[in-house]
Amino acid sequence: MEPSQLKSNKQVIHKNPWFLGILLCIFVVSVLASIPIEKRKYGLSQSNLTTDYTGLLPERIKKIVKAGDRSEIQEMVKEANEMGYHISIAGLQHSQGGHTYYKDNVVLDMKTFNKVLEIDKQNQTIKVESGASWEEVQEAIQPYGLALKVTQSQSIFTIGGSLSVNAHGRDIRFGPMAGTVREMTILTPTGEIKTVTRNDSEEWMKYVFGGYGLFGVILDVTLELTENDVYTIHTEELKTNEYEDYFANLIRNDDTSMHYARVSVAPNSFLDEMYVIDYIKTGKVDHKTPLKKERGARIGKLALDIGRQGGSLEDLFWENQKLLIKSLDGDEVTRNNAMRGNSAFMEFTKPGRVEVLQEFFIPVEHYEEYMSDLKRILPPNDKNDDFKIHNITVRYAAKDDYTYLNYAKEDMFGLVILIQHGLKEKEIHNAKTIIQEWTDLTLKHGGGYYLPYYHYQSKEQFRKSYPSWEMFQEEKLIRDPNGVFQNIFYDYYF
Ligand SMILES: Cc1cc2nc3c(=O)[nH]c(=O)nc-3n(C[C@H](O)[C@H](O)[C@H](O)COP(=O)(O)OP(=O)(O)OC[C@H]3O[C@@H](n4cnc5c(N)ncnc54)[C@H](O)[C@@H]3O)c2cc1C
Repeated sequence: MEPSQLKSNKQVIHKNPWFLGILLCIFVVSVLASIPIEKRKYGLSQSNLTTDYTGLLPERIKKIVKAGDRSEIQEMVKEANEMGYHISIAGLQHSQGGHTYYKDNVVLDMKTFNKVLEIDKQNQTIKVESGASWEEVQEAIQPYGLALKVTQSQSIFTIGGSLSVNAHGRDIRFGPMAGTVREMTILTPTGEIKTVTRNDSEEWMKYVFGGYGLFGVILDVTLELTENDVYTIHTEELKTNEYEDYFANLIRNDDTSMHYARVSVAPNSFLDEMYVIDYIKTGKVDHKTPLKKERGARIGKLALDIGRQGGSLEDLFWENQKLLIKSLDGDEVTRNNAMRGNSAFMEFTKPGRVEVLQEFFIPVEHYEEYMSDLKRILPPNDKNDDFKIHNITVRYAAKDDYTYLNYAKEDMFGLVILIQHGLKEKEIHNAKTIIQEWTDLTLKHGGGYYLPYYHYQSKEQFRKSYPSWEMFQEEKLIRDPNGVFQNIFYDYYF
């Protein structure tokens, strides 16, 4: 090419904004496409070690039995009573403290036990087998204009797994998840199949819900549903010390059905700033809007990875999150879609490190003092620390009278925390020390912590958080005299 021709081509490139725009787009798309969204490697495996979501507790098991029909499961439970082996029950294994397996014993894999048995549009109920995921339930009920009353922020869990931890989410009106079950069929530890309700004198539901698979197999449940309402999203930025008043006002206002908040973990506004997201009734019900599919996983992961660096990059991440949330203000969303948060962007697969969840519950009226005390034990900037906090969301968990091992002894805020730390012994020890200090502070404020996650807490902290543990254990010995149902979680705490 002649030098003069080269020069004129360069001028074309410089002067043509379209050309530059296209180049930029190609660059951005190729950067985004190269962000790996790897799936964590965890789950059941007979020949190798079995783990759950964090992979922190690898263990070899004897065998996995896929749940077939209910009489086969019943036979297995009877056999375990006679032959003296243990069974652990697994849903999708998002619990993180070895709740779904036990060394050298049998795992009952419930994922295949997932049929929708009946939908009653008039009475707004669904009867479904317990291995179904919330996603599968939503697919079945959406065409009827129906939605779940209570579920988690994501729909990637099984019904049996969620009820066994008595999960909670964004809904602020329908109380604990356990309260949305009208009836259920269980297989007891001695091998009987029973249909039970909340008013049964034997109180099976109170032990099975929040019972971590230790009181029998949930076979099917009849869930109460509600309308697939359409909501307007309202978002607002707040100071942490304004939140209690904001929430008190919100809970008095019947129009807000769902709500959650996020607290800053960025150095410049650490635990001082928050934003809230409310879902306000429009009076419309939806039958048509399709269930949303997971989108934007790569860009979400890129943003989260920037935040994961800590320091000023975390400040940048927080400012961007606020802009993103503000852009949602005034949007409309269906109840079903508000209950289907994205999850793929959270995948974290860095060798030598782990990302875990912890959740602390704090009585609603202690929130402000608690947050201010928390600033004394956590560094605002964890850029150079091994133990890093990436995210804190706040949920409302209404007082729970439905389960014995309950975390919401009164109306609570749940702080859901995403933490990353290294896997060397001293790094795990350091994480444990910080989380135990955090747990002590929470207990001092009349709160407690959530049990589906990894057990950094001591046995003593468990007993203080769950004062009814003794009764739970006594009842376990009575209802499961041969210890048929067992898992690492039970072994550690009891
Ligand atoms: C990314 C992420 C987000 C989360 N978000 C939330 C949230 O918003 N709110 C919340 O409350 N929790 C949340 N959790 C915790 C989650 O709800 C629990 O871990 C839940 O148990 C997951 O369901 P699962 O199907 O994976 O259950 P699993 O982990 O497979 O099992 C959990 C427990 O249930 C028992 N179990 C499973 N199936 C049955 C059955 N059919 N009968 C009897 N027992 C059974 C198991 O033995 C085990 O003890 C989250 C977890 C992760 C990893």
